[in-house]
Amino acid sequence: MIAEDSDPNGEKPEPRRKTINSPYIHRLQRRHFLLFDILPILGTAGAFAFLRVHPFGLTEFLLLFSMWLATGLGVTVGYHRLFTHRTFTAAPWVAAVLAVLGSMAGQGGVVSWVALHRRHHEYSDREGDPHSPNLSGGGLRGTLRGLAHSHFLWMRRHEYPNVVHYAPDLIKDRGLVRVARLYYYWVALGLLLPAVVGGVVSLGWTGAVSGLLWGGLVRIFVLEHIVWAINSFLHMFGTRRYVSRENSHNGGVFALVTLGESWHNNHHAFPESPSFGLDWYRLDPGFWVIKMLESCGLAWDLKVPSAKRMAAKRLSGNAEPVGNAA
Ligand SMILES: [Zn+2]
Ligand SMILES: [Zn+2]
Repeated sequence: MIAEDSDPNGEKPEPRRKTINSPYIHRLQRRHFLLFDILPILGTAGAFAFLRVHPFGLTEFLLLFSMWLATGLGVTVGYHRLFTHRTFTAAPWVAAVLAVLGSMAGQGGVVSWVALHRRHHEYSDREGDPHSPNLSGGGLRGTLRGLAHSHFLWMRRHEYPNVVHYAPDLIKDRGLVRVARLYYYWVALGLLLPAVVGGVVSLGWTGAVSGLLWGGLVRIFVLEHIVWAINSFLHMFGTRRYVSRENSHNGGVFALVTLGESWHNNHHAFPESPSFGLDWYRLDPGFWVIKMLESCGLAWDLKVPSAKRMAAKRLSGNAEPVGNAA
């Protein structure tokens, strides 16, 4: 999927393009959209229909919860805070586990995800942002169109960020590239695991189907909509605590269910920070996991911003807001 941008005659190389458009990539995007964005919706409807055959019991609850938590941490701690923003350094095996768990979420391979998200930070809420809710016109119509685009519809077909430009550090990491190449297998493993556990616990095929539905497809559906809500709603509604050039907001009430991701204005103001809550009393389960890894010697070099830097960007309080977000 990586295109080398060089002159066909080999004379002078063109400047590297930031995005790649090809029918092949758009076919892959459409396939991914149908498999991992539409199928979980159908699977969730199927899970409710299947309740007539197999009830929602403790096994289903535990499978849904544990798989949601593990893959959710894979996305926020692994994909987002470690691989996209390099907010800390992790032991290689911890990084690999986080990449696998993040892959199981079905939101794209790690290299593509990182490239897309780095582009989001580069162009936040301006032309070039892959999923801004604020570029679809004004009025109620524009607002609704923007929300639908940023939450979901943008994934049908979009400019593909050139990973050579956006993720050169990742494609040099052979171990990580190997994990990324097996993306579809990790998603399949994330579906197979709950199915096997459901089958073994219930000793029947209905338990296996129920495990696949609740621990697999419903879990993907729930986590996807949580992650997408950050892209859509939190670039439109919520509170702002720090100066940042785009329209990002915090949604504190969603801190736990988003594993800390809902401190989105904090994150845009300090993208280098492993803590999104920034203050201890702002709940941030993703950061708690990073601190736990640090205390075990499995994570280090946490780039938490200084109190002075935070005060300089604060919108309320004594300090004058200065500077712009990265
Ligand atoms: Zn980010
Ligand atoms: Zn954002």
